Amino acid sequence: MDLAYAPEDLAFRDEVRTWIAENYDSDLREQMAQSKNGYLDKAGQVRWQKKLAARGWAAPDWPVEYGGPGFTPSQRYIFNMEMSLAGVPTSSPMGLKMVAPVIMAFGDEAQKAKHLPPILSSDVWWCQGYSEPGAGSDLASLKMSAVRDGDDYVLNGSKIWTTHAQWADWMFCLVRTEATGKAQNGISFLLVDMTTPGISIRPLPTLDGPPEGEQEINQVFFDNVRVPVSNRIGEENKGWTYAKYLLEFERGNAYAPGLRAALRKVRKIASAELDGSGAPLITDGDFRRKLADMEIRIDALDAQELRVFMGRSAGQSVGAVSSMLKCLGSETQQAISELALEAAGVYAAPFVEDTWAHLRGETNEPRPGPDYAGPIAPAYFNYRKTSIYAGSNEIQHNIMAKLILGL
Ligand SMILES: Cc1cc2nc3c(=O)[nH]c(=O)nc-3n(C[C@H](O)[C@H](O)[C@H](O)COP(=O)(O)OP(=O)(O)OC[C@H]3O[C@@H](n4cnc5c(N)ncnc54)[C@H](O)[C@@H]3O)c2cc1C
Repeated sequence: MDLAYAPEDLAFRDEVRTWIAENYDSDLREQMAQSKNGYLDKAGQVRWQKKLAARGWAAPDWPVEYGGPGFTPSQRYIFNMEMSLAGVPTSSPMGLKMVAPVIMAFGDEAQKAKHLPPILSSDVWWCQGYSEPGAGSDLASLKMSAVRDGDDYVLNGSKIWTTHAQWADWMFCLVRTEATGKAQNGISFLLVDMTTPGISIRPLPTLDGPPEGEQEINQVFFDNVRVPVSNRIGEENKGWTYAKYLLEFERGNAYAPGLRAALRKVRKIASAELDGSGAPLITDGDFRRKLADMEIRIDALDAQELRVFMGRSAGQSVGAVSSMLKCLGSETQQAISELALEAAGVYAAPFVEDTWAHLRGETNEPRPGPDYAGPIAPAYFNYRKTSIYAGSNEIQHNIMAKLILGL
């Protein structure tokens, strides 16, 4: 594995840095400094993603024929690294990284023409309708029914934990079109317009206490919702194949660059805060050991991710290693959010309400604690999700046990 950058890669890195400096404006930076989860509100997300789209960088992984930038593998790595280190908003993945590759691979020409351009321009937003009450890890047991009636399917049931359903114009979802036989064989993959009569959305409050505009997950109900058969991807009852293809993209992200940026923030906090004896926390031996432990974990993960990235670029399949990276990445993410909580100490305790009252301009009272303290506790609670979603870590351990250890 050759880790040295070629001169043209370094030139590209500088180009990305310059673009970020010119486009990641103070408004976006201020909003991001208070974000608990790497996202802005929808208006902020759209503004950022449209800037990327105008530069041709909204979808670094897309093929050129659909509007991708045609990055080389090393450019793609550098681009992701620089964006993460700069702490820019995370692009909403449901359209760009999840449904788009499925439409490219299995959609018909009409579906491609209709859906891909507005995903790229961030004019149409998507949500993911896989999980149901009673069907999460065991996804194939999903029950939401789609019964054929003329040129439509009629949908009844509900989807749950649907991230940002309240922002979405469309949902890609898995439905049951055949109730007998092997569960995996009776599933179809549908594209659903969220304005269709019969769809209702119930917000689900989470531990991190989202203020309005920060609502993350929902339950979505379908009551006799008519969806044209032409909105089906591929063949009826073959949805499981497309669903699994999509999950490869959902789990394919690199963690290390974002973790480095998060650890850098913890270092800054620990430089500003004092330990029990009045010295800067960053000089405390015990705390320094914890920082070093995180640094080592990130270096190890980075090396593995780079190896996988090189392998993928050479056409190798990743296999169960992606499960290992998901576990290491999500556990380190949670551990760093815990360290931030420890570093901020009592300032993380005011929780988020006062901070948000400030941002909404509802109070003239001084804000409790330094600016960086506001999102620390919400982020700590929010990141509990990372070991649950995209296939829980227990399920990833099962995959590793089977495919790597042969158990
Ligand atoms: C913040 C957040 C956002 C999400 N967003 C979306 C979204 O946009 N769209 C969507 O479709 N879904 C979404 N999900 C759902 C997510 O995919 C599921 O939560 C996940 O698949 C786990 O399913 P479950 O919640 O039903 O838990 P269950 O499957 O009921 O699992 C409960 C516990 O049992 C463990 N477990 C289950 N089976 C096994 C086993 N065989 N061996 C060992 N342990 C096992 C699990 O690891 C877990 O700890 C989101 C979840 C979260 C937390």
